[in-house]
Amino acid sequence: MNPFRYERATTVEAALQAISAARMGPDDLGRDDAPRFLAAGTNLIDLMKGGMLHPATVIDVRQLPLRMIESTPDGGLKLGALASNADTAQHPLVRQHYPLLRAAILAGASAQIRNMATNGGNLLQRTRCHYFYDPGVPCNKREPGTGCPAATGIARQHAILGASEHCVATHPSDMCVALAALGAVVHVASAGGGRDIPFDQFHRLPGDRPEIDTTLQPDELITHIALPPASQFARHACYLKIRERASFAFALVSVAALLDLADDGTIRTARFALGGVAHKPWRDSEAEMQLEGRPATAETFQAAARTLLRDARAWGGPALPEGTPGNAFKIPLAERAIVRAMEMATAGILTNTGEDAFREEDLS
Ligand SMILES: Cc1cc2nc3c(=O)[nH]c(=O)nc-3n(C[C@H](O)[C@H](O)[C@H](O)COP(=O)(O)OP(=O)(O)OC[C@H]3O[C@@H](n4cnc5c(N)ncnc54)[C@H](O)[C@@H]3O)c2cc1C
Repeated sequence: MNPFRYERATTVEAALQAISAARMGPDDLGRDDAPRFLAAGTNLIDLMKGGMLHPATVIDVRQLPLRMIESTPDGGLKLGALASNADTAQHPLVRQHYPLLRAAILAGASAQIRNMATNGGNLLQRTRCHYFYDPGVPCNKREPGTGCPAATGIARQHAILGASEHCVATHPSDMCVALAALGAVVHVASAGGGRDIPFDQFHRLPGDRPEIDTTLQPDELITHIALPPASQFARHACYLKIRERASFAFALVSVAALLDLADDGTIRTARFALGGVAHKPWRDSEAEMQLEGRPATAETFQAAARTLLRDARAWGGPALPEGTPGNAFKIPLAERAIVRAMEMATAGILTNTGEDAFREEDLS
């Protein structure tokens, strides 16, 4: 039994007051007993039941008025933190202007989980590293200072970019890979005020503090996510997800690609992000700039993929072929996935997965 205090807030102000009052101390960041907001609970409750998290207080925020999905004056879109993943993917404005986001959400979890899971919770879901989920083994992310058996253990799911000897876990979200490519901004509120966090600064690399996943402070509440206007990318977008089985599995590698193509097939602008390869969705501005002004060909895409993967390294115990680190296969897999996603985006094929495998107009 893990006793904890349960509170329900019905206004943002009350939720912020409750979390401030429940703070354990100034070092709450990364503590497994720090107070938590409860959204749909599809990750938090699992972690509490499994003994990975022991929050002393849980503040239920499901009744806060944060389910909006609405356009912003600059032509972008505002996604409420408590809007469900399903409502977000099905919204007409998301379907029309952000098909990449819709495809990424629909590539994740199951219909039942997407109906429950919220946008804020999706950003803050924890890694799916098997060692993190097993309180019987050491894990620096779960218990700082105990070690990272994944670095030399079973590592098929683990990072090839930005990892450290302290943690080789990956961020498991599909939605976040699309948000990274789209250049979203996370809006947060706290008793001291609010702030905007650009998406590439929201999740962090593990370094020597792998217990801290994001730059969010313990008393901050995500209120909404803002998307910039993205129409020029809507026609040439692709979310490609490579996974161990055809559905209901986390990504080994995923790619969110957005291309703005001129009539002659030259790339005007490109954005792409990778999932399943790092502690955060991985974007590389040098690789993106390398695509600009170049023809949309496999050679162009492969060169950009090699730039993005220039510092990739494998982790994990020996696997086949003899002596290869366990996730070495992910480096060539990521390169091929980038090329394929860009080719699909060029051809107007939105995804290899989910109910959006073909655009609706292709089916009519
Ligand atoms: C079997 C299974 C398969 C899955 N497969 C996939 C998949 O393939 N792809 C994928 O992307 N995801 C997948 N998921 C993860 C799922 O998307 C997340 O569990 C879900 O998005 C979390 O949302 P939630 O509302 O339930 O969050 P909760 O579990 O309620 O909360 C998660 C964390 O976010 C914090 N939090 C929630 N809302 C806020 C807020 N507004 N401000 C501050 N903190 C907040 C909580 O305190 C907690 O720490 C899967 C989950 C399950 C159980």
